[in-house]
Amino acid sequence: MNLYEYQAKKLMEKYNLPVLKGFVCATINDIEHCIVSNSIGYGPWVVKCQVRAGGRGKSGGVCLVHSTKNILSFANKWLGNRLITYQTTDTGELVTSILIEPAVKIIQEFYLSISIDRDESQIICMASTQGGMNIEITEQKTPNFIHKIVINPSVGIYPYQGRILACKLGLSGAKINQFSRIIVSITRMLLEHDLTLIEINPLAITDDDYFYCLDAKMIVDRNAIFRQSELLNICAINKPIDMLNFINYIPLEGNIGCMVNGAGLAMATMDVIKSLGGIPANFLDIGGGANKECIISAFNMILKNAKVQAILVNIFGGIVCCDLVAECIITALARYTTKHIPIVARLEGNNSTLGSNRLINSKLNIIVTDNLIYAIQQSVTAVNLKNVNFS
Ligand code: GDP
Ligand code: MG
Repeated sequence: MNLYEYQAKKLMEKYNLPVLKGFVCATINDIEHCIVSNSIGYGPWVVKCQVRAGGRGKSGGVCLVHSTKNILSFANKWLGNRLITYQTTDTGELVTSILIEPAVKIIQEFYLSISIDRDESQIICMASTQGGMNIEITEQKTPNFIHKIVINPSVGIYPYQGRILACKLGLSGAKINQFSRIIVSITRMLLEHDLTLIEINPLAITDDDYFYCLDAKMIVDRNAIFRQSELLNICAINKPIDMLNFINYIPLEGNIGCMVNGAGLAMATMDVIKSLGGIPANFLDIGGGANKECIISAFNMILKNAKVQAILVNIFGGIVCCDLVAECIITALARYTTKHIPIVARLEGNNSTLGSNRLINSKLNIIVTDNLIYAIQQSVTAVNLKNVNFS
């Protein structure tokens, strides 16, 4: 589960990491309130669209502003609209809040990240003097500018390791210790909160000669959410957790929307669709433990995709019950769509008869079958029929 920058920074504050005091606003009213109460200070400010994808700066989603009027025009432009960056799909990501922070004068931008290297069973901390918006280019063209240290997860980090990395970066004086303290804190944060990635880019030295974490990206191990109540509170500060964070969805180029449980089954389903002449519009694994709102959101995501001309549901009920899936499909169709779209559902396994009957009795014109090949043939046919040119 990816955290928003403002959520990541809330957690970083608790670890005494140097973050700026920012204000998250979800509406123009919130922003006006901040301005009138003068809680945001006198500026200049950096205003930042809160989306989970990176690359915001290059797409106009981060902006330096000198007047409250410009804060409002930035917010009017982005709130409720979609930001497209090189890390999003071509439909972009909805901007539901804006972070307003005091602007600082950057002297140098560093890149810093800590993540889990699964092959080595170690934690890897990477840093570079070439931070900022072009880090991907540095990684490709000058990998020698990226320095690494390896941290043993069962032992944790020693401050001397942070100092070694600081020296590799050419830091001197008090900055060596400040940098080392940052490394120690992010390692503790990663271990204590079951994070799989923390990325701070840029970690900037400003004109007061201190480091500040100006951007933050964090990924929480979804399997550990159950024991991370503090994180859940942080995520719920401004809005409930987005259910879609629990679902693996990857948009593809085709027109057959797929809702499947289990990554392996989802891959196999896509293979069969292809071999029978269709093209999947997405990979979607609703997982084993998906709840009702999760499945409804997942189905709605397929419905919202304008490219989708037929939907194939392929559920092999194990932990997830087929009757729950059926109920979610019916609810999502009632809630979110008026247009007719061919739907084929293959429900097998746990409560499959109950689920199939529920779909049949809904009178929703859904083809229900327990035969996967037939189901896929039907969805491919539905798409081909739509594309027949009768002229
Ligand atoms: P990203 O493009 O999604 O990674 O968004 P960032 O939060 O990293 O912001 C993009 C760029 O904006 C950073 O690399 C900085 O160069 C710049 N930036 C962010 N905060 C500040 C700030 O307080 N002052 C100044 N001058 N620039 C900033
Ligand atoms: Mg950044």
